[in-house]
Amino acid sequence: MSDDSATGHGAPRTVVVKVGGSLVSDKRSDHDIDEAAVLDYARLVADLARSYPGRVVLVAGGGALGHGAVRRKEHDGRLALLPLTRATFAVKWVWTEAFRAVGLPAVPLQAMAMYAEGGDGPMFQTGVVSRLLGTGVLPVLSGDCVLTADGDLRILGSDHVPGILLDGSFGPVRVVALTDVPGIHTGRTGDSPVVPYLDAADPSRAYAYLWPTAAWDTSGAMRGKVDAFVAHAARGAECVIARGDRKAASLRHLMAPMADWPKDLPRTVISRSRPA
Ligand code: ATP
Repeated sequence: MSDDSATGHGAPRTVVVKVGGSLVSDKRSDHDIDEAAVLDYARLVADLARSYPGRVVLVAGGGALGHGAVRRKEHDGRLALLPLTRATFAVKWVWTEAFRAVGLPAVPLQAMAMYAEGGDGPMFQTGVVSRLLGTGVLPVLSGDCVLTADGDLRILGSDHVPGILLDGSFGPVRVVALTDVPGIHTGRTGDSPVVPYLDAADPSRAYAYLWPTAAWDTSGAMRGKVDAFVAHAARGAECVIARGDRKAASLRHLMAPMADWPKDLPRTVISRSRPA
């Protein structure tokens, strides 16, 4: 195994795997979730978590249920977004049941109970995540609505959720978004090459590559992901965007130093330093 820890691209302490909603649902609908796809990804994540006990956290993309709850928002009151916490809990529950089916203990955690914004900045409560990891249980997180400093609710999209884990004892943290594209394409079509590395200190060129976001998408698609991952990388995380494959043999490379990842696997790395 190569050691490129000096560049910040060695084996991470913790891998946060975010399985994109586009892999397990049709986000144009309000309710779709493909439980067979969730089960396939749960099997892969469970294998990773068993291979590296206490070092894997799952973030479930909200998919159709999450986007649907935002699209159906009924009023403009301070707590108007509250149904989002119910919808994303339903998503977490589907994942939790899938992990149970493949024999891995998992517990859903509401991001709203772990993160809030106060007058002095964000507040993080991650002790339960540490306890779960320490007892061999997989924490299952997702996007949510969260309390702002003004006492309103705002959306915390699932790509932003790994940020909750960046101030504690989890580092070095690698955040991996598995989605329906192999990274940030440099052209307008899916057969164009992907950007291999994006410097978090100078991400502007990536925005020029982004395609227009569909009206039904409430989290900005790739634009939202780049915004979130640039922010995580600025706080020290190594972030990767790669295509998910529910029939993949394994996800174990997600825990390896970047230099040991399969050479033929396209991905976009967003971090403060270029991988070797
Ligand atoms: P969610 O965030 O809802 O969980 P997800 O993480 O699976 O879903 P999206 O947020 O939809 O994925 O981001 C992936 C989408 O970004 C792609 O399906 C594509 O349509 C869009 N996209 C926009 N610009 C680009 C680009 N330059 N390269 C690749 N994908 C792009």
